[in-house]
Amino acid sequence: MTGSQPVRDKATHGGRSKSGTTPPAPGRAEIPAPVGDLLATLQRGGQAAYVVGGCLRDALLGREPADWDLTTDAPPERIQALFPRSIYENRFGTVVVRHAGAQYEITTFRRDVSYSDHRHPDAVQFGTSIREDLARRDFTVNAIAWGGRPAEEPAFIDPHSGRHDLARRLLRAVGDPDLRFGEDALRMIRAVRLAATLDFQIDPATAEAIGRNAGLAAGLSGERVFAELLKLLAAPAPSVGLRLMEQTGLLGVVAPDLARQHGIEQNKADGEDLWDHTLRTVDAAPNRSLIRLASLLHDLGKSDTLADGHFHGHETVGAAMARDYLAGLHAPRALQERVAHLVAHHMFSYEPKWTDAAIRRFIGKIGPGSVDDLLALRAADNEGSGLPADAGHLAELASRIQAELAAHVVLGRDRLAVDGDDLMAELDLPQGRLLGRLLDDLTERVIAEPALNDRAILIEMARQSISDGRLLDNRTS
Ligand code: ATP
Ligand code: MG
Repeated sequence: MTGSQPVRDKATHGGRSKSGTTPPAPGRAEIPAPVGDLLATLQRGGQAAYVVGGCLRDALLGREPADWDLTTDAPPERIQALFPRSIYENRFGTVVVRHAGAQYEITTFRRDVSYSDHRHPDAVQFGTSIREDLARRDFTVNAIAWGGRPAEEPAFIDPHSGRHDLARRLLRAVGDPDLRFGEDALRMIRAVRLAATLDFQIDPATAEAIGRNAGLAAGLSGERVFAELLKLLAAPAPSVGLRLMEQTGLLGVVAPDLARQHGIEQNKADGEDLWDHTLRTVDAAPNRSLIRLASLLHDLGKSDTLADGHFHGHETVGAAMARDYLAGLHAPRALQERVAHLVAHHMFSYEPKWTDAAIRRFIGKIGPGSVDDLLALRAADNEGSGLPADAGHLAELASRIQAELAAHVVLGRDRLAVDGDDLMAELDLPQGRLLGRLLDDLTERVIAEPALNDRAILIEMARQSISDGRLLDNRTS
């Protein structure tokens, strides 16, 4: 097969989205040439082969698929024989094939057998038909295949009317939604996530089943929930999915502290509560997982600190809660720390009268690698409060920070013109608390006055401090 191959289907017609724009007609998809090659190789080898799942859904919607997945009646050993350089990921029954500079997953037809714990099939069996494979998939729009048996004209296999639902922009469970969510509770979170990323509605019967089964999500592993949460937060407007989570009761199960924000009044935008503010903030945040997560969690401490109409110290309480929440989802440790750090510092209040030294102290406290993130969070928080993004002179603060960073000023001990070894040698000092205190003192003074960052000057200043005894404070030493 050469060149990308348009696949066309005469049975469905393009739908019109609610916003009035005409989406690319579902029923047509461009299959990239390398994917066509893989299908052809399998079929020449006597195997049935299909493009299937999310990639076909995205292609039919005119969206760029993240990756192309294939399914076949060939067992893994046979797939490997047809693709000598492939790797068998035996845990998932999936063979990974490298072709034309990209990776593709080829999975043998599957059938799932009985789920007793609401998240793992007790056994995965290889199936024998594409229809069986499609029947175990979650939503009709994810249960479409395109391809065929050897020598067959390629065609859509769409037993659950997925293309019809694509045209209506509707997520509908394959089969009985209560049964399907009982098998794997993650499908409920996938439904709200896909509704947000694709801008689809959830079919009423499917949505009602989520409401009935939301409690089952309590048994899901943190990792699986976190992966879906990140995808949800990468949607153009995450609030669409987050509101659905709240309305269906899923939020109360997977993020109870967020669910409690609903109904907490605060005097920001008229008629909006704390939950509305959180949602607006997340939507306003730039589409990076760190900032979207920090926006989602930035006011987590408010529900617990509300007293007399104020939220005293909510950022400190909230930082600890955000860290615990992300730890529970097994988020990477560094991400937990970065989110908690941003939450802890999001209440800063800049004023134009700050001196340049104050700007340098601020950068030093937040960390040069985090100031941009903190300003991005605050801009989103402003918008979430119905204010202009740069309220509180944020643009001015940003440019003053840039100017300091560009000047390579001292922000901490690491850029000081002397280090501990210098002071020990020059002043005949032992290692210990006095040395540490001297270095901190010199750092503070250089942050205030960058011109002092000179080896001879600093050693002289240190000598003076020792003879004044000004660092022999009453802390235990
Ligand atoms: P994305 O575009 O974000 O990758 P996706 O629908 O492709 O979304 P994947 O996790 O890549 O999500 O899954 C690929 C396909 O596998 C889905 O389209 C669906 O057919 C099937 N699938 C994934 N997860 C489940 C599940 N929990 N239950 C049933 N089928 C699933
Ligand atoms: Mg996918």
